[in-house]
Amino acid sequence: MNPKNFHPESLMMSHGYKPEWSEGAIKCPIFQTSTFVFKNAQEGKEFFELAYGKREKSPGEQPGLIYSRLNNPDLQILEERLCLWDQADECAVFESGMSAISTVLLEFLRPGDYLLYSMPVYGGTDHFINKVLPQYGINGIGFSADETFEEILEKTKGHSIKLVYVETPANPTNALFDLELCRKIADHFSSENSYVPVAVDNTYMGPLWQHPLLHGADLVVYSATKYIGGHSDLIAGAVLGKKELMQRVRTLRTFLGNMAGPWTGWLLMRSLETLKVRMTQQALNAEKVADYLAAHPKVDKVYYLGHLAEGTNQYKIFKKQLSCAGAMVSFDIKGGEKEAFKFLDSLKLFHLAVSLGSTESLAEHPATMTHSDVSDSDRQKLGISEKLVRLSIGVEHADDLIWDIKQALDLV
Ligand SMILES: *Cc1c(COP(=O)(O)O)cnc(C)c1O
Repeated sequence: MNPKNFHPESLMMSHGYKPEWSEGAIKCPIFQTSTFVFKNAQEGKEFFELAYGKREKSPGEQPGLIYSRLNNPDLQILEERLCLWDQADECAVFESGMSAISTVLLEFLRPGDYLLYSMPVYGGTDHFINKVLPQYGINGIGFSADETFEEILEKTKGHSIKLVYVETPANPTNALFDLELCRKIADHFSSENSYVPVAVDNTYMGPLWQHPLLHGADLVVYSATKYIGGHSDLIAGAVLGKKELMQRVRTLRTFLGNMAGPWTGWLLMRSLETLKVRMTQQALNAEKVADYLAAHPKVDKVYYLGHLAEGTNQYKIFKKQLSCAGAMVSFDIKGGEKEAFKFLDSLKLFHLAVSLGSTESLAEHPATMTHSDVSDSDRQKLGISEKLVRLSIGVEHADDLIWDIKQALDLV
């Protein structure tokens, strides 16, 4: 299948699919079907034995298709392709990033357990941790990027941490968390009969620029709505990781029934073919935009990973964990909400919308939009002020993006 150790981008058009399965069609068709016909009763029995974990797979045996809540070719092939980028054993695709995240949290936490999580996390994740999980007797303890191992142990004293959940780079300030440190904390709370997994939301770096499984994480979660989908036309999520943990995630997905449908799976396979070229161009554009912003007199501060000062702790984490500065650029505009809104309302090419990672460039105001639910004191602590604007850079010509930013700043 992979004779030369091809790079993932070389395999996104073909991996896991055989044209002879589908009348020679070069592309995997959309298997818009709820159920699959067994050749005979014995085959049905064997497929179910595997699906319900009643026995181990025998060498070379392929799990058979049963019912689209359990498996479907458009999801299975997509999952195999996603595994290549992160070098994961297994992947499960979900109908949204939030369903991927909430399934992981529900599978690895039980009443009485504590969850250690990085701050800030995505708004929906924050809501699930702080408003939903406490109703099930599960509580979260947050930590920020500047806290040390000792400080984190101090604040978790007396609590049984059962999962470490990290989002890095953090949204919208690009603060980086050290995954090696997160692994060390999880090991501290692990015992012989209770392993504490580290789960990382890698949405901000897509599957291209950061591979958390290679830095001590056990699970990676994505909002596939963002870079993986990349065209602002679908909602989906994914979880990847080690086999034993993924079997638990997949089983809960089967019973919550929150897998993606075949049409979404097909769209995501199409998106994966251009993932590398899209993201590469987005990062090149982002660098130019960030440099332009940093030199502009109406800009106070730029939050861009390519501008981290050498020798700082953040720079060290960047060098260790990331292969690229990404395509998310935030900046403080001189002034406050009035100036930020004037800028946003004057843009002609950027779209004023939340979400990120898409082919078109987007701009938004975190304090009143994506992060309006975060408490005032947390917003202040995390640097999410009234003057902060977040940009997601797309694949347009960089000169046009800079022209747009210039004319909008001129009007402020
Ligand atoms: C968008 C996003 C999510 C939620 O994903 P949905 O696909 O919208 O459910 C989770 N984490 C991060 C970092 C996100 O940007």
